[in-house]
Amino acid sequence: MYGRRQERAQFFRHHGFRCTLPREVILDILYKTKSHLSAEDIYFKVHPIYPQIGLTTVYRTLDLLNKMELISRFDFGDGKARYELIKEGDTSHHHHLVCRKCNRVIDYTDFMKEETRFIKKIEEVLSKKHNFEIDSHKIHFQGLCSKCKSEGR
Ligand SMILES: [Zn+2]
Ligand SMILES: [Zn+2]
Ligand SMILES: [Zn+2]
Repeated sequence: MYGRRQERAQFFRHHGFRCTLPREVILDILYKTKSHLSAEDIYFKVHPIYPQIGLTTVYRTLDLLNKMELISRFDFGDGKARYELIKEGDTSHHHHLVCRKCNRVIDYTDFMKEETRFIKKIEEVLSKKHNFEIDSHKIHFQGLCSKCKSEGR
């Protein structure tokens, strides 16, 4: 959906928004990257090409895209929110290993089959117990990556 300009514009219209340049450009950056970018990271990529797009616009656009559930926001505990495009299909569901020293983020998709079963069960119980409608979850583990581990604590 996000790869094609026309479909993207349609998606925005469907949600009652226009596909403005910043929205288009930021989605494009997140589409092309494998890393988890902060608003500043995105700004530094956007600004040289589109000087009219300021940091405030980047923040606002990220907020909107997050509300539209086109991107996910993560807080890995280093005080900076990071963003990732939500890709279509189940295959994109993954979790994170976050290095608390160098902030490296590793995506993993191991155990997703087992997780689906397990998480569904947890969701069922929790939503009943707390009368809470769960629609998503985020899991990340913190620790030391291989590089930081070998360098010592
Ligand atoms: Zn999960
Ligand atoms: Zn590390
Ligand atoms: Zn990720």
